[in-house]
Amino acid sequence: MQDEFDRLMRCVRACRICRDAPRYGHALAHEPRPVLQAQPSARICIISQAPGARAHASGRPYTDPSGVRIRNWLGLDEEAFYDARNVAIIGMGFCFPGNDAKGGDLPPRRECAETWHSRILAQLPDIELMLLVGQYAQRTHLDRHFTRDGVTGTVRQWRRIYEAANTPRVMPLPHPSWRNSGWLDRHLWFEAELLPVLRADIGGLLRQEPLTLGRATFRSPGPF
Ligand code: SF4
Repeated sequence: MQDEFDRLMRCVRACRICRDAPRYGHALAHEPRPVLQAQPSARICIISQAPGARAHASGRPYTDPSGVRIRNWLGLDEEAFYDARNVAIIGMGFCFPGNDAKGGDLPPRRECAETWHSRILAQLPDIELMLLVGQYAQRTHLDRHFTRDGVTGTVRQWRRIYEAANTPRVMPLPHPSWRNSGWLDRHLWFEAELLPVLRADIGGLLRQEPLTLGRATFRSPGPF
């Protein structure tokens, strides 16, 4: 299985579809550099958005302030977070998609999930917890009735989603970008209620003690 997985990863890392034969819109304006991490033994899978410019430059997922925030959410230090034997990080697009006219990141390339996701996920048989980060991952992996009200509406239903799934368990998360700091301030139940459950799950999976949280006095507005 490891040989097969390594072959697949070599194919992913050599992929040039969006540069040489794009199926949707313009060709990628820069050389592709797929950024992901995975090993067949992984127990946690983060389905993220797409690498930003910094992760594109480093070749490693979440090497930016979003990474600091998501590691804090998960209660993992860098060593644990970047241990691909435990944690797979697979974007909806593996390559930095470029910027739009306002300087924001373009959406993940649709070619990527279409081409690679099912093949990679088929080689990760031990995933017990799947984190869906942001609208693209949620729209792809959750039923429409969970996602019709956008990311806020989806994450509000986190307990229903988390408790409904068997294996893997599924947890929706907002994107950890600094742009979402206001969202976090307005939805304090996210830190107070969702994160302790998430950290306890991850701590159990990786046999680590979950970190102690602050801001533990707020409740979600449910039922949803
Ligand atoms: S975004 Fe995905 S499909 Fe497109 S070139 Fe990169 S690896 Fe290939």
